[in-house]
Amino acid sequence: MEFLQKLHIDNDNNGVSTGLEWPAANGEKLFSYSPVDGKLIAAARGADKANYEAVVAKAKDAFAKWRLWPAPKRGEIVRQIGEALRHHKEDLGKLVSYEMGKSLQEGYGEVQEMIDICDFAVGLSRQLHGLTMHSERPAHRMYEQYHPLGIVGIISAFNFPVAVWSWNSMLAWICGNVTIWKPSEKTPLCGVACQKIVAEIFAKNNVPEGVSNLVIGGRDVGEWMSNDVNVPLVSATGSTRMGKAVGAAVGARLGKSILELGGNNAIIISKDADLDMSLVGAVFGAVGTAGQRCTSTRRLIIHKDVYNAFTDKLKNAYKQLRIGNPLDELNHVGPLIDKDAVTMYLNAIDKCKAEGGNFIVEGGQMNGDGFESGCYVKPCIAEVKNEYSIVQHETFAPILYVMKYDSIDEAISMQNGVPQGLSSAIMTLNLREAEAFLSHAGSDCGIANVNIGTSGAEIGGAFGGEKETGGGRESGSDAWKAYMRRQTNTINYSTQLPLAQGIKFEF
Ligand code: NAD
Repeated sequence: MEFLQKLHIDNDNNGVSTGLEWPAANGEKLFSYSPVDGKLIAAARGADKANYEAVVAKAKDAFAKWRLWPAPKRGEIVRQIGEALRHHKEDLGKLVSYEMGKSLQEGYGEVQEMIDICDFAVGLSRQLHGLTMHSERPAHRMYEQYHPLGIVGIISAFNFPVAVWSWNSMLAWICGNVTIWKPSEKTPLCGVACQKIVAEIFAKNNVPEGVSNLVIGGRDVGEWMSNDVNVPLVSATGSTRMGKAVGAAVGARLGKSILELGGNNAIIISKDADLDMSLVGAVFGAVGTAGQRCTSTRRLIIHKDVYNAFTDKLKNAYKQLRIGNPLDELNHVGPLIDKDAVTMYLNAIDKCKAEGGNFIVEGGQMNGDGFESGCYVKPCIAEVKNEYSIVQHETFAPILYVMKYDSIDEAISMQNGVPQGLSSAIMTLNLREAEAFLSHAGSDCGIANVNIGTSGAEIGGAFGGEKETGGGRESGSDAWKAYMRRQTNTINYSTQLPLAQGIKFEF
C-alpha cells in the first residue's frame, strides 16, 4: 500500500528508536493485523529490558542538553513537526484508519488533532508562566518558576493511536522534557510512523538524539516504565485496570502520573430537549468509532415524557446505519479492534440479557462478504436499569443503554451513579436544568456539555475525568503544569536577613 511506503513502514520494522537511531530490538515480534480486512499489515519487533535501559540512558543524556534550549526555540521545533504532520496528514490518517479500524474521516481528524496540539504548544512555549507574590519581608522578592521534569513516559491505548501521544509529547517537549513512548501493542505501526516523522525534523535542527524515544512492546514495557525511578512522570491512557496498576507502581515510588482511563458517559435527554439535535449527538456518540472512544456515549437517561418518541427515533436511525469498511466514506460503523473485542461485546450482551435488559435494537456479529476479518458487529440498544453490573462497567463496543427518569435531580444522580467520571451531557433548552447540571451539585465528570454529545473534545480545554477515570488532565488549558516541577524562589536584596514570621535569631 502506497501510504505505508510513504511513511517508511517496512514488512518487518524495528520497534526501538531514540530518534534517527534504531538500535536492534531484541524483544517479541508484534504482528499488526488490520481489523478492516484481517490482513497482516506488517510486524514490529518490540524491546527487551536491555533495550529499554539503553533508551533510558540515552534519554537522560539528551535531557541534560535539551532542557538548556530556550522554551520558544523548543516551540519552533514543534512548529516544524506540525508542518510535517500537515504534509503527512493523508498517509498517516490512512494508516490510523487501516491499523485501528476507525473511519477515514476520523483518521484524518486524529491527525488534525495532532496538528492542533502542535499549534497550541508553539504558543504555549512563550507562556510557561509562574506567579509573583509580595513578600512579608522588606526588600524581598518572591516568585515561582516552572522547570522541566526529565523523562516523561507515555503509555497509550489503541483507540487514539497517534493523537494521545502528540498531546503528551508536544507539551512535554516545549516544557523541556524528553519522552519515551510505548504505543499500544495493537497499533505499533502508528508508533513507528510518528517516530520517523519526528526524527527527521529533530535531526534537521540538531536536536539531541534521545529527546523523542520509541519503545514498542506489551504491558511489560509499561511496567518497566512505571517502576523506573528514572521516569519522574508516567502519562498512561487506557483501561481503569491498567491505570490502577500504573498508579500504584508510580505512587509506590512517589513519582507523578497522569491517568486517562475508562469512561461510562451518559447524555440526559430532557423533555425540553431539541430531539432532532439530540438524536445526532446520541447516535454519533454511541456508534462513532464503533463505540471505541473513551468519550463514547454508553448511556441515555431519557425523560419519561419523551422516552417513547426518542427511542422510536433511535430505532429508526439505527436501521439506517451502514456497517462496513471504514475506508469507504459511505459507511457509518467500522470494525472493533480485534476478535477479542468482539467476544467482549457478545459477552456483555449476554450479561445484559441475564440481568433483565430488553434489547430494542438487537446486536450480533456480522458475517459474509466484506466482514472476513471477524471484527464487525451490529450497534445495539438495550433498555436497562442503571444499577445492573454490566451498565456500571465500560464495554468498549457499540452497546447503548437507555433508561427513564422523572425529575432532573434523579437524572443527575443516575448520570453520576457509576464508578467512572469522564464525559457527560444534557440536551435541554431549559436554562435552569442546564445550570443545575453544570453546578457543583451537578455532573461529577471532567467534561460536562450542554446541547453537545459526550463524544470528542477540542484540544484547547483540559481533557480528563474524575473517579475511576483517573483524575489526570491533558492537552489544553493549564494541563502543561503537570509536565513541570514548580519552584518557589525568594530573593533578598536588602542588607539585613530578616526571618519569616518575625522570628528573631540573635547571637
Ligand atoms: P489497555 O488498558 O488494555 O492498554 C492501554 C496501554 O496500557 C497499552 O499500551 C498497554 O500495553 C498498557 N498496559 C496494559 N497493562 C499495563 C500495566 N499493567 N502496566 C503498564 N502498562 C500497561 O487499554 P486499550 O484496550 O488499549 O484502550 C481502551 C481503554 O482506554 C478504554 O478503557 C478507554 O476508555 C481508555 N481510554 C481512555 C482515554 C482517556 O483519555 N480517558 C483515551 C483513550 C482510551
